[in-house]
Amino acid sequence: MTDAWGAFEARMNEQSDLGGIMGLLGWDEQTMCPPGGRGARAHHGATLAAIAHQRLVDPAYGEAIEAAAALPDLTVAQQAMVREARRSRDKATKLPEAFVRAMAQQRSATNQAWEHARETTRFEDYRPALEQLMRLKVEEADLLKGDGTRYDALLDDFEPGMRLERLQPLLASLRERLVPFAQTLLDAPAPDVSVLEQGFDRDRQYAFSLRVLEDLGFDFEHGRQDLSTHPFTGGAAPSDVRLTTRVWEDWLPACLYATVHECGHGLYEQGHSRELWRTSVCGAPSLGLHESQSRFYENVIGRSLPFWEHYLPVAREFFPGQLDGVDAMAMQRAVCRVARTPIRVESDEVTYNLHILLRFELEVDLIEERVAVADLPEVWNARMEQYLGYTPKDDVEGVMQDVHWSEGLFGYFPTYTLGNLYSAAIREAMVRDLQIDDLVRAGEFAPILAWLRERIHAVGAVPLGEDLMREVTGKPLEIDSFMTYLETRYGALYGV
Ligand code: ZN
Repeated sequence: MTDAWGAFEARMNEQSDLGGIMGLLGWDEQTMCPPGGRGARAHHGATLAAIAHQRLVDPAYGEAIEAAAALPDLTVAQQAMVREARRSRDKATKLPEAFVRAMAQQRSATNQAWEHARETTRFEDYRPALEQLMRLKVEEADLLKGDGTRYDALLDDFEPGMRLERLQPLLASLRERLVPFAQTLLDAPAPDVSVLEQGFDRDRQYAFSLRVLEDLGFDFEHGRQDLSTHPFTGGAAPSDVRLTTRVWEDWLPACLYATVHECGHGLYEQGHSRELWRTSVCGAPSLGLHESQSRFYENVIGRSLPFWEHYLPVAREFFPGQLDGVDAMAMQRAVCRVARTPIRVESDEVTYNLHILLRFELEVDLIEERVAVADLPEVWNARMEQYLGYTPKDDVEGVMQDVHWSEGLFGYFPTYTLGNLYSAAIREAMVRDLQIDDLVRAGEFAPILAWLRERIHAVGAVPLGEDLMREVTGKPLEIDSFMTYLETRYGALYGV
């Protein structure tokens, strides 16, 4: 193509490469890096981020983007590349360099205060730093928001195109339907989970997770799995995807479902079409979309009865004698236990969304300055009691349990619930084409992956998230698919 496209493409490729290198450094920090190397790694990351930022805001890149945008006959993918490059650059240029530096320092200080306060269990040790960070987030949102709300501006980092005025009523309607349903399940007799709590050999658990990864279609020629404290998916490129998992000896689901969850993310990354590599649209259009893939594999597939009909005999080979006394139904009931768990990351797929709703409502109030940081613990605990019937025993179990806010991540939490909503809508669309249950029961996962590949993975961020989902599912973002999915599965399991 023309020189104008070539000039734009070279800069866009460079941004993508820098992102890939940062991804690899981040992966290394959490998996292989010796403790003594962390300090140097922090410098590497900061230097690289500064270089990437300078290259992004460079006026020459802005000119290259506009010259490319003016070209006639751009393909749909090329138009999207220009759109996304312009979006990232516009955002970066709206924040003065001094502000970016102040924010980076405050994030680091707030995160340290958070870690310290978790040790002392005193919110008071965290409050001043969080207040300072909130002031900067308000400033950031005001710099970025244009004619939207402050929350829109923050949400846009994770869910481009989404607006508070659509999200708020959607999640409020979810809350109205979900709270009473969850209460019914929480009040019902709890299933027996003792089968999952036997000591399971760590190496065998890891080997079992690799077996499941391979079955689901993860490509080890272009990816790998390692261990980390907090499981994540990262890496350098679609041809080099790094997953991590964890192993808990006394809780079989910890390793298995961390792997299956990250596998969903990893399959997505590996599935981006070759023509999108090293471009601004090589990725998911939104975090909610990314999360829909992990939740689809973890919950829709991984916690289904057919999954255990297929994997129970396999699991018995990995853990001889330990699973002889149960059937597939008992396994499903155990991995689908609904409980009043105070900690979000340990909660089940029903109450998980109540944890998210609480955070979403609070962070909207924080950024609009309707709730003060000092009042957070009280508001948090009251809402926890209201939604889950549980009062945290301290602030570590309550408002200080997540790392997100301490790192300045506001607008991130709703993407988890959007992922759940999308995953159920995707399932509804998929059953029109595929006999999912039969395929899973037979361990034939390839047609499921092919379906997702063609419709979602391959197109990357060429379409916007909501547009893509409307095309795939045939309907706008709504809560019915998800609630019907929960009511069907848990209604059967709990007899309610
Ligand atoms: Zn995830």
